[in-house]
Amino acid sequence: MRSDFRAFCADALADIQAQGRYRRFTPLAKQAARFPYYRRPDGREVLVWSANDYLGMGNHNVVIEAACEAARAMGAGAGGTRNIGGTSPAHVALEAELAALHAKPAALLFTSGFVSNQAALATILNSRPAGPERPWHVFSDEKNHASMIAGIKGARGIVCHIFRHNDLAHLETLLAAAPADAPKLIAFESVYSMDADIAPLPGLCDLAERFGAMTYLDEVHAVGMYGAHGGGVSERDGVAHRIDLIEGTLAKAFGCHGGYVAGDATVIDYIRSAAPGFIFTTSLPPMIAAAALASLRHVRATPALRSTLFERAGALKARLAAAGLPVIPSVSHIVPVHVGEAARCFAISERLLAEFGMYATPINYPTVPRGQERLRLTPTPLHTDAMMDQLVAALSTILLPARAA
Ligand SMILES: *Cc1c(COP(=O)(O)O)cnc(C)c1O
Repeated sequence: MRSDFRAFCADALADIQAQGRYRRFTPLAKQAARFPYYRRPDGREVLVWSANDYLGMGNHNVVIEAACEAARAMGAGAGGTRNIGGTSPAHVALEAELAALHAKPAALLFTSGFVSNQAALATILNSRPAGPERPWHVFSDEKNHASMIAGIKGARGIVCHIFRHNDLAHLETLLAAAPADAPKLIAFESVYSMDADIAPLPGLCDLAERFGAMTYLDEVHAVGMYGAHGGGVSERDGVAHRIDLIEGTLAKAFGCHGGYVAGDATVIDYIRSAAPGFIFTTSLPPMIAAAALASLRHVRATPALRSTLFERAGALKARLAAAGLPVIPSVSHIVPVHVGEAARCFAISERLLAEFGMYATPINYPTVPRGQERLRLTPTPLHTDAMMDQLVAALSTILLPARAA
């Protein structure tokens, strides 16, 4: 090991620690039969308020049984890339079901949502549809997830424009200033999970059509939850047919693992044939593909899951507000509670765990701007009124006296 590099690492870590944003993991074992209760290594139970298993599907019997059955039949790992023995019938069926979810001709699986964004965007943007000397102009929302940024940064020689978050007027200005004949792509999310807001999808589609731009939508925090069948905000807003590529995850509302993109069959076939992040990696374990397929089918067919999710989120927002707690208004299923300072955000989360047996993730810079540090709560259909009363009482004890002082 080079000593200068090790010293560099130590300095960088000290810096992160001094800024109060050193990441400490909290080991918690999920209890499938008692979700949202987890268990600490010492055996104590913890009520978790920050899982991205938004519908609790990772703990649903239908999903667990599908995983166990597939593991017994096909083993644990895929044993190869998609091209080398790693395409099980479950992978094929899952891709068909995902395409149907978004009313698209085709879909392609990746080993995570991160990889799907990184691989799909880099592959698209490294292409030169208008000739070798005409690179893509990409228009990226300033709050886009790190995985989309990784994909954009992985493209050589492109021109990247960052538009202000959900700001259609700013995007229009940038589009109008770009060369009319340049290939253009607009990349955005639907539900932004840290801000808990939702993009104006119809307006984004209007601009894309006016300026001849392709649209790339990350629906990671919306699939399974928004739209009549869980097709995301693009389904809810009736614009899925105007979005060229829809990206999603199987790891959040579907409770399993993996990512995907859905869109035009030729474009999906090109990504399948050109993206190193798709080609040169072992495919998802067949048991995960089977579990995700069972979850997807159940979620698509069960609108009550979605109505209960939003009823529960509304109930928690109302209870927090009624208690005078600083809940940040949100139009999504995500419930942020304002704290405003990194060290305090950590301390509150730690106290909630140590004294009250509940866990809520502190969200700090650089995930949100400094001054906007918050606890991020994600109530699921399995969070009861009694659990909410318990949380509101604990947060009142922790937050309200400190604010008065
Ligand atoms: C979590 C997340 C991803 C990555 O999905 P994984 O399946 O967890 O890798 C992509 N985009 C957004 C907006 C996310 O929050």
